[in-house]
Amino acid sequence: MVDTRRQIPGTDRVLSEPEVAREVARLGADLVKRAVHEAQRSARDDEIAPGEVVERTLAGLPASASAVRRVLNATGVLLHTNLGRAPLSEAAVDALRHAAGTTDVELDLRTGKRGPRGASVLRALTEEVPAAGAAHVVNNGAAALSLAATALAQDREIVLARGEMVEIGDGFRIPELLTATGARLREVGTTNRVRLDDYRAALGPDTGFILKVHPSNFVISGFTADVPVAALRELDVPVVADIGSGLLRPHPVLPREPDATTSLTDGADLVIASGDKLLGGPQAGLLLGREEIVQRLRRHPLARALRVDKLTLAALEATLRGPRTPVERALRQDPEQLRLRADRLADALAAAGVPATARDSAATVGGGGAPGVELPSAAVELPEHYAAPLRTGEPPVLARLEQGRCLLDLAALAPDDDDLLRRTVLGVR
Ligand SMILES: *Cc1c(COP(=O)(O)O)cnc(C)c1O
Repeated sequence: MVDTRRQIPGTDRVLSEPEVAREVARLGADLVKRAVHEAQRSARDDEIAPGEVVERTLAGLPASASAVRRVLNATGVLLHTNLGRAPLSEAAVDALRHAAGTTDVELDLRTGKRGPRGASVLRALTEEVPAAGAAHVVNNGAAALSLAATALAQDREIVLARGEMVEIGDGFRIPELLTATGARLREVGTTNRVRLDDYRAALGPDTGFILKVHPSNFVISGFTADVPVAALRELDVPVVADIGSGLLRPHPVLPREPDATTSLTDGADLVIASGDKLLGGPQAGLLLGREEIVQRLRRHPLARALRVDKLTLAALEATLRGPRTPVERALRQDPEQLRLRADRLADALAAAGVPATARDSAATVGGGGAPGVELPSAAVELPEHYAAPLRTGEPPVLARLEQGRCLLDLAALAPDDDDLLRRTVLGVR
């Protein structure tokens, strides 16, 4: 019997192959060695020939030194929380690359002295939202809420309507976050109705602020009433509006979604929003409002613990200043164009023997924005058994399962990705 083990190339020999050595420079030796060991094991188990070890090593390498992988979002949910919410624009990705090294994030290059951190992104925010006297950025919406609660209502009361006591997802409950800061909650109204007088009756010397929370992931319908910011301003205590999704101005496609400009002009003293929802930027918490309040937040000791890094600042500024974001383009795309893409894709797949058909579909915003809103879309329909191999394929494709069918909804996918999607589907057969 021949001992094939002898013929299996050793680790050092595989690593010295020029193609493998290049990957060591890109990914680091540890990750490449892991792939080599895996390939050697396959050769020992006779799954591959000893001569295929180099090839198998290269095939087994990750796309990057991070385990995070790119996933094609074919769910039709524009902001999919499990897929990292908003995909960044090219401009934002480019800004990330520039900011990744040493940068002038906190240096005034003219004077050589320390400069205000992130000054240019704050300027971009107040230019986009002139109704805001000042702006501050923290790590996410939850961080923004906790900073506001700590700085403005510690040992005091936050007045909040019962119908706005929201759980965002994964067990994150806004009321619990607020009380964790040392603020007390003063609940007003019922699940479905609250009146201005309910708020008025709850106010007292202990009131820190009134919090208005956008029910961003559910809809209460029927016998309902809530009190808009424009009415709450009459009560003469600070009004903080957590609008969630990060629209800076009213949006033509989402007329019922609150926006920062309107909330501020209606009389909110402070607006809180996320950066990675409808704004289409990186994870961030935006605080926009009256200068004196924003200054108090900025100077609070907790602000340092919630501070964003230079990468977030760069990507956020590029999102604000740059061209339309992928989220914005997805919101405004023409359903007929989507249907054309679905037809083309389904035809190409069908010609290759895949039982694919094109159909109209309904996409959603998802990720804490515009609950109940359906956006006309188009999809390629496949048998259900395609879903799992697509999800574990390369690149992974996340489809939507609907009535026993696997739908590839195109609303959240850039047209440039259609060809990759087609090749990936062909590859899973
Ligand atoms: C999403 C959301 C939050 C939490 O924001 P994160 O950026 O996820 O921390 C808070 N409030 C509302 C209304 C939201 O929609």
